Amino acid sequence: MSYKAWFQCSEGCDERYELNETIYKCKKCGGLIEVRHDIEKLKHRSPESWMRLFDERYRRTKWPYGSSVWGKKEMVCPNVANNNVVSLYEGGSNLFWAERLGKTLGIEDLWIKQCGNAHTGSFKDLGMTVLVSMVKQMISEGKEIKGVACASTGDTSAALSAYCAAAGIPAIVFLPKDKVSTAQLIQPIANGALTLSLDTDFDGCMEIVREICSENNIYLANSMNSLRIEGQKTVSIELVQQLDWKVPDVIIIPGGNLGNVSALGKGFLLMKDIGIINKLPRIVCVQASKANPLYQSYLKGFKEYEPIKAQKTLASAIQIGNPVSFNKAVRILKMFNGVVEQATEDELANAAALADRSGLFNCPHTGVALAALFKLVKRNEIEKFEQIIIISTAHGLKFTDFKIKYHENKLKEVEPKYINVPIELPPKYEVVRKTISDKLANFV
Ligand SMILES: *Cc1c(COP(=O)(O)O)cnc(C)c1O
Ligand SMILES: [Zn+2]
Repeated sequence: MSYKAWFQCSEGCDERYELNETIYKCKKCGGLIEVRHDIEKLKHRSPESWMRLFDERYRRTKWPYGSSVWGKKEMVCPNVANNNVVSLYEGGSNLFWAERLGKTLGIEDLWIKQCGNAHTGSFKDLGMTVLVSMVKQMISEGKEIKGVACASTGDTSAALSAYCAAAGIPAIVFLPKDKVSTAQLIQPIANGALTLSLDTDFDGCMEIVREICSENNIYLANSMNSLRIEGQKTVSIELVQQLDWKVPDVIIIPGGNLGNVSALGKGFLLMKDIGIINKLPRIVCVQASKANPLYQSYLKGFKEYEPIKAQKTLASAIQIGNPVSFNKAVRILKMFNGVVEQATEDELANAAALADRSGLFNCPHTGVALAALFKLVKRNEIEKFEQIIIISTAHGLKFTDFKIKYHENKLKEVEPKYINVPIELPPKYEVVRKTISDKLANFV
């Protein structure tokens, strides 16, 4: 059985394009395009048989199916030949049962999907493997592509750099000067990407990279390139797979450019179309209060939308004022009984730190999602018996500066409630013994 996917305009018209065309928007009407699959063909195989196939492949060694993205290849990007797949074994990330954290909120069924446990430390790998594989496929077909470029708040450029380096394709990354973490800056540098630091914000970098890519045979890797969404949507399939093919009640996800929340929804819709699941979860998308255009639109019933100038936030990967995938995200949120929330700097930092106390190590964006969880539970908008999944988007080790400053009480607009600092002591047995004994008496 040969499966096939194509680009299709999902706004003004239904125009179709091949996946190996360099195209990001509909040529006829300018609408957003998305990848579509031949659902009828996919339905020739029964839901049970798909589930068995995915379970057989999951984290095994047969190339490229051990990757949890390529293990679902028929539903992701069947158009790439296996020898053109550029994979670093993405997906298969831990679903952490947050038992202790849940108990403090009175909930039993709370899980953190650790998407940051990935090759480059964020969920961006899920999409980038698909995009770079398609580029390798196109180059193998003789298409002239000189390099792949992206604007980034840090994690996209890290992923692009790693996948391009693995494939031997030049990467060009545009970063807003002084607005990404050291760990995020060093990744493209280490991987040999052409790293351009522009004195502007993410939205400013985006404008320039678009212009560069439109003329110079440079392929654009930002999330208006809907190939990435195909990889990212596997998080939904993997999640349901990890729950023994059951659908959770609520999923909470941080949102910036809003590609990821769109991808999450797309994965569930696909599974429902094929019959793997028969209900949909509720989706909660959360923004930083400093960069909240979706939240503001939500308050007006999505009837109005104004791009904003994003303010500086600790959740730097979602410091975006004019999200590319706004329309897609709204469509998904409407279908998934969606809620949009926001989190202040103080709320996101304290939420991340409290959750760290139960064995996690959260990035600020995961803090944004956790802060929303706390609010929704408090307002009884989430019931205590519900099964709740937090999408953790990056590894905390990418944001050590944020975490160190939290514990040193040096973050602006944050009153840290869970500070823990090293205690400096002389190397004397009695002093050390007494300190431990005093501290353990008050251990929380
Ligand atoms: C990219 C990113 C996000 C936001 O995803 P969007 O698709 O832009 O909404 C959130 N957290 C982290 C860590 C990211 O890298
Ligand atoms: Zn169109």
